[in-house]
Amino acid sequence: MLDKENESRLIKLCQDLVKVKSLSGEEEEVAQVLATFFKESGFDEIKIDSCGNSIGIIKGNMPGPTIVLDGHLDTVPVGDINKWTVDPFAALIKDNRIYGRGTSDMKGGLSAMAVAASTFAKNNNRDFPGRIIVAGIVYEELFEGIASKYICDEYKPDYVVIGESSELNLKIGQRGRAEIVVETFGVPSHSAHPENGVNAVYSMTKVVDAINKLSIVSHPILKEGIMVLTDIKSSPYPGSSVVPSYCKATYDRRTIVGETKESVLEPILNCIKELEKKDPTIKAKVSYAQASNECYTKNIISAEKFFPAWLYEEDDKFVQDCLKELRKQGFDPDIAIYDFCTNGSYYAGEKGVKTIGLGPSKENLAHTIDEYIEISQLVGAANSYIAILNALMK
Ligand SMILES: [Zn+2]
Repeated sequence: MLDKENESRLIKLCQDLVKVKSLSGEEEEVAQVLATFFKESGFDEIKIDSCGNSIGIIKGNMPGPTIVLDGHLDTVPVGDINKWTVDPFAALIKDNRIYGRGTSDMKGGLSAMAVAASTFAKNNNRDFPGRIIVAGIVYEELFEGIASKYICDEYKPDYVVIGESSELNLKIGQRGRAEIVVETFGVPSHSAHPENGVNAVYSMTKVVDAINKLSIVSHPILKEGIMVLTDIKSSPYPGSSVVPSYCKATYDRRTIVGETKESVLEPILNCIKELEKKDPTIKAKVSYAQASNECYTKNIISAEKFFPAWLYEEDDKFVQDCLKELRKQGFDPDIAIYDFCTNGSYYAGEKGVKTIGLGPSKENLAHTIDEYIEISQLVGAANSYIAILNALMK
């Protein structure tokens, strides 16, 4: 358990991280703040990797497993600053809470990971097997799991802990997420003579109708693999006296375990084929959205927006080991799943690394005006991470 001195270090680190603005792609300064903490806290290796992740490694005295404690460095924007009653970057302490953008999502969780790792190592005199890697990750808010890929591929962890808010409950999975792009192609003509063209928006409405009739996949724990239309745009836009020759719609699809890139697109492809057969003027295409962004290190990270689901069994040994140790330390976590997509998508969804989630604070404080974290949750998270390290580093 943290003593008073380490509690103060934890609160200070959380405040130091919150005081630095760190939108996705602009995490350089906050990565340095974390690296400085690693340096001052006796981490064995400190590194900023090619995409700007801030990494601190502590090695035990014996060979053993590698555990990654994964927390993201970036935050969403503050939104309408006039609605905030506190300065989002002052990290003000009031009523046993720290206020500011990123306190809950998730500089609090990340601070707790860093302090827990150093406290665990000191308390054990390094007498433990394996190594602990605290990873401050860039770009999570836009690209779940893409920057974590660099950590996973470089360090090949045996276990991963995701520090997103869970109110100190143990998360063993999440639905995945895919961004699906549907395009229709028409033929332009003057809108006084629509019969000379093919209206790509009319084609799109038929595709959208057909997609709406598709059955929804479902899972007893992860629930439904819903598909929601999130935007639609025709071209030329704005159109004036012209039949639009192109239309693009984007869908957000939540995925369940077992679904693949191919299996998610297959029913949509079949829909399109059917429609094209019935009406030869319809021409449509479906694919995943591609995204590519520049990190502050100038490295470009890019990916197809398909982030798979993952789920472990409640009675998996590593889950039960963590649970036992958490209970021994006086915690009583529920076992549940995240309601949103996390970096676990890559570690667990793509690579099958044993992953659990645990973090301070309520999920619904993320991205809010007057975001805050309860100091009791912050300290509880650090102590929970120490319990998890006790459970897994053997
Ligand atoms: Zn987050």
